[in-house]
Amino acid sequence: MWRATVLTIFPEMFPGPLGASLAGKANLNGLWSLAAVDIRDFAGDRHRTVDDTPAGGGPGMIMKVDVLGRAIDAAASDDRPRLLMSPRGRPLTQARVRELAQGPGILAVCGRFEGVDERIIAGRGLIEVSIGDYVLSGGELAAMVLIDACLRLIPGVMGKEASGADESFSVNLVEYPQFTRPQLWEGHAIPEVLISGDHQKVDAWRRAEAERLTRERRPDLWAAYVANQESAKKGPPKG
Ligand code: SAH
Repeated sequence: MWRATVLTIFPEMFPGPLGASLAGKANLNGLWSLAAVDIRDFAGDRHRTVDDTPAGGGPGMIMKVDVLGRAIDAAASDDRPRLLMSPRGRPLTQARVRELAQGPGILAVCGRFEGVDERIIAGRGLIEVSIGDYVLSGGELAAMVLIDACLRLIPGVMGKEASGADESFSVNLVEYPQFTRPQLWEGHAIPEVLISGDHQKVDAWRRAEAERLTRERRPDLWAAYVANQESAKKGPPKG
């Protein structure tokens, strides 16, 4: 079973969207589990304080290292990677999601306020993960995004198994355009080739469209794709 533990000062946000749809049903079926740990339970005072003012001054509040340390120690004594949701982290990619989905699960610390005391990162071996170059008000939505992306790759969670193989990003290409009935809508028809029944032609069309869209929209992915194609042509390094 793939296990997610989320450390947050807003445990009531979970499972939230993760409890709906196929992922929610898969949870009931025992394919994955989610525990939301309330960081406040590990505060040392009557007011359940989790934050304090920044050393050196400046705006906002910082999450306390001692409180976080106790919360992490109580939650994790296993081999799951410990993540810190953080705009400074390595941006999340589908390759990373695949890796995490194949592992035992994750522990994710959700920051709030101006973030966490730096010492917790090395102190508890946290790996910083960002979900994009923008700033959220807390790590909870970021953790949900990461968990959602992992869950759909866990065998049995999504209806159809094959799905992952030619999806966006699996080979540095975005996905080709998809269509379904009706055949004609407001004067726009489904491309002829897709109703030809010729699977080879369909595959070729899809590949060409995926390449076109990637080239037009994602020069970064396109460069990686071209580099991959070239090294595949050269074959494995000799010697
Ligand atoms: N002062 C920080 C931002 C704090 S936002 C800075 O300038 O970098 C508060 C919390 O939201 C962060 O600690 C983090 O846990 C979460 N968060 C915000 N943006 C995020 C992002 N893009 N990816 C992952 N987590 C994010």
